[in-house]
Amino acid sequence: MSVSADKKTLSVGPGYRFSDVYPYLQQYGLAVGGARLGPVGVPGILLAGGINFYGNQFGFSADQVKRYEVVLANGEIVEATEKKNADLFWALKGGSSNFGVVTRFDMKTIPSKKVWAGIYTVAQQYLPQFLEATANYSSAITDPLSHIVPAVIPVPSGSEINYIGAVILFYDSNTLTYPRCFEAFTSLSDIGNTLDFKTMDEFTTETGAAVVPHINDIFVSGTVVGKTYDQLL
Ligand SMILES: Cc1cc2nc3c(=O)[nH]c(=O)nc-3n(C[C@H](O)[C@H](O)[C@H](O)COP(=O)(O)OP(=O)(O)OC[C@H]3O[C@@H](n4cnc5c(N)ncnc54)[C@H](O)[C@@H]3O)c2cc1C
Repeated sequence: MSVSADKKTLSVGPGYRFSDVYPYLQQYGLAVGGARLGPVGVPGILLAGGINFYGNQFGFSADQVKRYEVVLANGEIVEATEKKNADLFWALKGGSSNFGVVTRFDMKTIPSKKVWAGIYTVAQQYLPQFLEATANYSSAITDPLSHIVPAVIPVPSGSEINYIGAVILFYDSNTLTYPRCFEAFTSLSDIGNTLDFKTMDEFTTETGAAVVPHINDIFVSGTVVGKTYDQLL
């Protein structure tokens, strides 16, 4: 792993996880639009697409890769950029393992000393407002510095199951707290709030704590199509 002399590019091999990448970049006051949880591996997300905290500013993680070094099926080692092997460059942005073995990713870096971020949790009684806040954010968001990861989480309580609402809130600023775009969440009374200024390393370690090592996680997601709050809700 290395950073270019002008600090604009991170070169990283496929053996790393983002829990290696963010602390390395921190010494330069930089980040990349990689995984939102530290334990995620570098190659899979960059070759799949990549939903990331900086996505509303810079697009998918794959969009932030400027150059690939690839071993093709015939053993040839080639570079793919916007200008060189442009078809391969295009195909690797979502093409997963189908076009060769990537041995180096060159990614655009993002200046990032600290971000304002954390997990905001509300009790079951506020779930209707929590879901409304989620639908409103999704249909009306205009602030590209923001990103949210909302979840409704079942919590066993004796023989019953209660549900809580927990949202990961990210705001790319080291000066502004509680931006207006999060108001519908943060105006609800909380039962947990870790929002603070933190480095990307600290933040993705915090979110990564949701993943227990050596235990399999199943992530299930769906897509709701809609352009208005009513359609989304
Ligand atoms: C806890 C958790 C959090 C996640 N968070 C996010 C998130 O925030 N955003 C998001 O978009 N996704 C997220 N994901 C999904 C994640 O992007 C995928 O699981 C991704 O495949 C992980 O990358 P990996 O390198 O660990 O995967 P691997 O399982 O190692 O690889 C995935 C695929 O890529 C291929 N591959 C691996 N290395 C190479 C290489 N060098 N060249 C060519 N092909 C290769 C493999 O053959 C395989 O087909 C998350 C997943 C988990 C489990």
